[in-house]
Amino acid sequence: MSTTTAAHKLVIIGSGPAGWTAAIYAARAQLEPVVYVGVPKQDPGPVLPGGQLMLTTEVENYPGFPDGITGHEMMAHFQKQAERFGTRAVGADIVRCEFSRTPGRPHALITSDDETVLAHAVILATGAVANWIGLPNEMRLARSGGGVSACAVCDGALPAFRNQPLAVVGGGDTAMEEASYLTKFASTVYVIHRRDSLRASRIMQERFLSRPNAKVLWNKVVHDVLGERYLEGVLLEDTVTRERTRLDVKGLFIAIGHTPATKFLIGSGVELDVAGYVALRGRNSQTNLPGVFAAGDVADSQYRQAVTAAGMGCVAALDAERWLAANQVH
Ligand code: NAP
Repeated sequence: MSTTTAAHKLVIIGSGPAGWTAAIYAARAQLEPVVYVGVPKQDPGPVLPGGQLMLTTEVENYPGFPDGITGHEMMAHFQKQAERFGTRAVGADIVRCEFSRTPGRPHALITSDDETVLAHAVILATGAVANWIGLPNEMRLARSGGGVSACAVCDGALPAFRNQPLAVVGGGDTAMEEASYLTKFASTVYVIHRRDSLRASRIMQERFLSRPNAKVLWNKVVHDVLGERYLEGVLLEDTVTRERTRLDVKGLFIAIGHTPATKFLIGSGVELDVAGYVALRGRNSQTNLPGVFAAGDVADSQYRQAVTAAGMGCVAALDAERWLAANQVH
């Protein structure tokens, strides 16, 4: 049976860097934010409380941690800091939203426990999930930090990958960007692409192909990922001849696109762009609906960094605070 509680000033949906940063700012502004942190699930890739950082091992590019920090630890710190100022974390998903268009009437959010939660302002911070090929050994080594990753900028500079052969799967701009970045550290960077021409823009292709240690393996898909604790190689299958060959690599970077976590917003009236990301109005965090804000990767297909998501979370909390004050919610 569904239950309803009194209206919160602010509910934040999502518990990555954007959600927790929004919570820290909102809690210090005495908005008593409630964060719906989510529950682990596998569809379409691993969606995790704590966001995509839970899938990286060492985070080396977040300012303030000169010795690096693990993704888990970093998200635990974010949560602790938000809770210190009065944030309440709830371990459930929001599965549906009924946003209000009437001033003064709160938004209704339906949880995975079939509870209806009311909130005057809402910050959407559910992130985007990297697409994976879907092979069991790929996911096993991605979760254990064994050399499979969906972010070369996050993980590529780790010592384990220095002067080693590495591979990137995909033929779009992200694959070219990640592969070009890896050429700085790797002995050879193989781009594994399922067709005989790249989808990436000419300039991005040329940037990669001009590097002396760049190689493209055309018409190939990854059939299996090899290695027990650490990646040792991949088994490739030729899409034309079906021939299988082994390629020895120490790192495998999957760059086959991202899917924003916005399924729960379909039918809610929040405007999404053609790729399914939340569409923002201009430079702030306001969506097309009053009192509904968005922050982090769910509204950013371009930068997708922990530090940019955190910055957007701060912006969303400040926008929500101003909106609540202007609408006399105290
Ligand atoms: P994308 O353009 O959708 O490219 C995805 C690539 O992955 C395609 O080459 C696709 O192959 C391949 N792919 C998809 N599913 C696959 C699978 N299951 N197995 C093997 N390969 C698979 O995605 P993106 O590269 O992430 O780019 C997304 C958007 O961001 C684009 O608009 C892009 O221009 C933009 N972007 C811009 C920059 C920049 O300008 N600096 C950098 C990054 C991204 P097919 O080609 O055969 O479909």
